Amino acid sequence: MLQFNNVMEVFKLLDKSNCRKCNEKTCLAFAAAVYKGKKQINECPVVSDKVASGYGIRKNQADLYQEELENTVKKFGEELSRIDFETAAERIGGVFDGNKLTLKIMGKNFSLDTDGKIYTDIHVNSWVLVSVFRYIINCKGASVEGDWVPFRELAGGRARYRLFAQQCEKPMKRLADKHPDLLADMADLFSDGKVSDQYQSDIAVILSPLPLVPMLICYWKAEDGMASSLNLFFDVTAEGNIGIEGVYILGAGITQMFEKLALQHGRSTG
Ligand code: SF4
Repeated sequence: MLQFNNVMEVFKLLDKSNCRKCNEKTCLAFAAAVYKGKKQINECPVVSDKVASGYGIRKNQADLYQEELENTVKKFGEELSRIDFETAAERIGGVFDGNKLTLKIMGKNFSLDTDGKIYTDIHVNSWVLVSVFRYIINCKGASVEGDWVPFRELAGGRARYRLFAQQCEKPMKRLADKHPDLLADMADLFSDGKVSDQYQSDIAVILSPLPLVPMLICYWKAEDGMASSLNLFFDVTAEGNIGIEGVYILGAGITQMFEKLALQHGRSTG
């Protein structure tokens, strides 16, 4: 099976029309994404199936998604098999019916049975799935206090804030700048109708990505020469419940989920 050795090898296979059907701004950006493994060569419609298959690309996105989830399940399988679902359900705000442990993830049902099979109403990405598994295994079960703090004010948040801002707040702000109605749409989809008036922001949405780890997104529009800004806040108990790494992974997963939803609804994330 052929492998790409550099970006230009990918670029040579494209028609350089920058038509954007691959959801990248240019053919060169698409080539870079393929070389880094973020996109598959067959996501460009001008590349023939014959050429794409030479690079081992036969799987469609649904297959890749399924494979990614299965790999994540495998990775956590042993630890999950040691968990008593009944006591876990009480600890983490879930429900156990004798076979399946069910949690509300962003207001939708997410279930895991005792054989490790997932049933979900929500299109989770692997980051979100990792967050859910870590939550089931590690969450301490502290109740939400309703006291919101920014990521950098969590005990371990300062050291990781630069990465968090890069992976979560900046991309989410870009989405909100470009599509001011996006957060409102996400609130309609996922927030159980809960909207906060915290911090006099223009838009404030409370999401519940995990039952005991809510997330508050506050967005301030650009005004009077001041740039727009967006901050994510977590309940003061978040770090104690899932650890700072868990909070970071959750933020990154939700950001990726929003970016993907924006693309699916015809909105560019660039
Ligand atoms: S779909 Fe193909 S031709 Fe169009 S911009 Fe993307 S890489 Fe270029």
